[in-house]
Amino acid sequence: MGDFKIALIPGDGIGPEVSNAVRQILDVTGSRFGHNFHYDELLAGGIAIDATGQPLPEATLAGCQKSDAVFLGAVGGPQWDHLPGDSRPEKALLGLRSGLGLYGNLRPAILYQPLSGACPLHPAIAEKGIDILFVRELTGGMYFGDNGRREGKLGPEAYDTEAYSVLEVERIGRMAFELAAQRKNKLTSVDKANVLESSRLWRETMIRISKDYPGVALDHLYVDNASMQLIARPDDFDVVVTTNMFGDILSDEAAMITGSIGMLPSASLGAPGSPGMYEPIHGSAPDIAGQDIANPLASILSAAMMLRLSLNLPKEAAAVESAVTHVLADGYRTRDIMDKRQAESDLTCAGTQEMTRQVIERLSQG
Ligand code: NAD
Repeated sequence: MGDFKIALIPGDGIGPEVSNAVRQILDVTGSRFGHNFHYDELLAGGIAIDATGQPLPEATLAGCQKSDAVFLGAVGGPQWDHLPGDSRPEKALLGLRSGLGLYGNLRPAILYQPLSGACPLHPAIAEKGIDILFVRELTGGMYFGDNGRREGKLGPEAYDTEAYSVLEVERIGRMAFELAAQRKNKLTSVDKANVLESSRLWRETMIRISKDYPGVALDHLYVDNASMQLIARPDDFDVVVTTNMFGDILSDEAAMITGSIGMLPSASLGAPGSPGMYEPIHGSAPDIAGQDIANPLASILSAAMMLRLSLNLPKEAAAVESAVTHVLADGYRTRDIMDKRQAESDLTCAGTQEMTRQVIERLSQG
């Protein structure tokens, strides 16, 4: 029995539709397992700009800091695209990450067996299954390093700097080792240590801290090789830890090989005890907003990650994941995961609300 305070940020586009699905799923999980979820609905993104003039009002960050966990739908949309960089809806994401100290981004890339037809890889590779957890450093590296424009030897030039401190590498490394120890005890660290000094520090640090996790086998891949091996032998990977930029690129590659963007959840975590933030990896999908066709499963699976990682409710998380697996096995598909190669008679096309209802039906049955 637990009482949990959830900061809920619906945001823009399909964000409110998928957040609504998450709220229903948490409520049903609460009824089945005897927990209470209290929601603090907060503004961020374009809707916050319209209401307050700021993408991330102070009250939103304060509400998140007081919560046990944060769920965010998505932010952004064409009506705010004309705004300057610092005033755009997406600025709220960076503000939440830095304000909550979220330095680790977890993206599971799982190929669900009923969706194996959506995997663009050779069937012989796809049928072995894919279940990889990407652990991406989220608040350092080139996306946060010194950058600018200047006059160079060949005329005007621009630069971005990749810099990592030992502390930054060590804390994301420890997060990845801990997660690997809860899975198959296998961790792959991805860097570019043959070229970059920051990568040599990354690799040295990973090797040093590996001594504290003798049960976990650590190996290293250069990022260019990793991008090939993910396609050639995805079933060999379990947990992958890498920098902010390499993680950005490789986790999108993995998303592609597991089917639709509408299926992929994520968690962003900081220091133990601080609230984590959970969100689907997709954006606000303005092209399909308000039509009841968005796939809610990435959000529902993000809620499962929240239950497991921030609320310490592994049984409840597994129940939600199992309900999703059963709905897929029973042939329910939102439009984005309809498989043209499968007989239409075997599949039922469902909208956002119907898909959520199907998950709830299986979740409440136990
Ligand atoms: P997007 O992820 O919103 O959409 C890309 C494509 O995938 C679209 O065709 C969309 O219809 C489809 N799609 C996305 N989610 C889906 C779902 N759940 N079910 C079915 N189909 C889905 O990316 P975009 O179009 O590049 O960006 C749209 C807006 O979202 C932009 O303003 C962008 O800045 C913002 N964005 C926000 C986040 C975030 O809030 N975390 C992340 C990425 C992009």
